[in-house]
Amino acid sequence: MKQIKTLQQAIQHYSDEQACIDEAAAMRWPDGKPVCPICDKREHYYLATQKRWKCKGCGKQFSVKVGTIFEDSPIPLNKWLLAMWMISNCKNGVSSYEIHRAIGISQKSAWFMLQRLRLAMRPDPITQVGGNGSIVEADETVIGGKLKFMHQRRKREMGMAGSGGFKRNKTIVMGVKDRHASEVRATVIPYAGRETMQAMVNEHVKPETVMYTDAHVGYDHLKRQFSHEVINHMEAYVRGNVHTNGIENFWSLLKRGLNGTYIAVEPFHLQRYVDEQVFRYNHRKHGNEKVSDGDRFRLLLSQVAGKRLTWAEVTGKAGAETSN
Ligand SMILES: [Zn+2]
Repeated sequence: MKQIKTLQQAIQHYSDEQACIDEAAAMRWPDGKPVCPICDKREHYYLATQKRWKCKGCGKQFSVKVGTIFEDSPIPLNKWLLAMWMISNCKNGVSSYEIHRAIGISQKSAWFMLQRLRLAMRPDPITQVGGNGSIVEADETVIGGKLKFMHQRRKREMGMAGSGGFKRNKTIVMGVKDRHASEVRATVIPYAGRETMQAMVNEHVKPETVMYTDAHVGYDHLKRQFSHEVINHMEAYVRGNVHTNGIENFWSLLKRGLNGTYIAVEPFHLQRYVDEQVFRYNHRKHGNEKVSDGDRFRLLLSQVAGKRLTWAEVTGKAGAETSN
């Protein structure tokens, strides 16, 4: 495969729909044999004019989009891949307005596209950090949505109109950072209390880890499962090696992205923006080696399968997906 290094090369390469299909198929089925999503058979004919496969087992046709975040999308794959290139590689993220202008689709389509791309950026399954006596920092931060930019009707829909609304628009994000691996896990939590904070750590951090946190009461019981060092920010921010500067740097990045690029983030969409920032952060370098834009893009392309997000889910008109 040709090495693509810049946005300009990506635009050129992905202007050809067949090149897009070939690349998406290669990432999805690394052995070069597409698998029928209906019956799992691997024998098929390729219908070149329709750019679909016809399964020899069940006789059904399928495209490379089936069973991925691209499913049911009328937007051609080449536009998807350009948007994917931009979100993988723009350090502070990219807004639906930028995508709308850059690739020529409506802002509404671009917004929906970005929500689906963020879903692909979420690791699945989630792997734990730490272990073997390594150091993991934990911290939490408050993200305040810019309520003033939100439309009145939208505020009412979200139950935020009126004086009590402001508080409810503040959302807490909790994160852990593995210092050696330089990897972050971050998640929206409903409130900053012992149960939620302890549960977040238990889910994302391996046993036999040395946890560094501030003196927040939510971390009180960490010592039952981990070694636990506390830096009391009333006294100092650093005590020798004990500090939480790593995860705090990640919060700065997250907030810069949110304030600079996105006009307003509603609380229930916040997890997806967090996932986006975590993806770029965790794949900025592996060891001492910088990850190239092309490699980060291909990694994201390899994560599109098995994930679907419908318009109803993303706009809050259907159940569980919208709760965070
Ligand atoms: Zn089949």
